[in-house]
Amino acid sequence: MTQVLITIAALCSKHNITEEQFSNATKVIANGRKAFYIVESLSAPGQEYRVEWNDEYHCLQCLPHNGEACKASANGLQCWHKRAALAVEEHEQAKVRARRKLEQAEIEATPQYQAEQLQQAMYELEALHEELLASQRATA
Ligand SMILES: [Zn+2]
Repeated sequence: MTQVLITIAALCSKHNITEEQFSNATKVIANGRKAFYIVESLSAPGQEYRVEWNDEYHCLQCLPHNGEACKASANGLQCWHKRAALAVEEHEQAKVRARRKLEQAEIEATPQYQAEQLQQAMYELEALHEELLASQRATA
């Protein structure tokens, strides 16, 4: 049960896409390679584009995946496929953060963790006490 801290509606409005466009984008992590996004066309179902980061030009590119390039990209225009990829990436990162938070909360809820914290606090208290005694001896 992972709580994602940003809603899909908020992500869509931030990236200026519809929820339908959001759900047409999928992050793909190929073995040992950088991630890319497959975005299915809404006007031509079945037609997929591949959005990936171009290291040379430092920009996102919308490339043909299983057919032709999208019309906007072919004409040098920005397309929603890239915005959808960005929204999906942000959503993935939010999920990772939420998962980490949950794991941390689960660890902190265990008796072992609490016992360790208590023991640590006792060591610190003991060390403080030693210091206090030492300074009292020094001034005596
Ligand atoms: Zn495109």
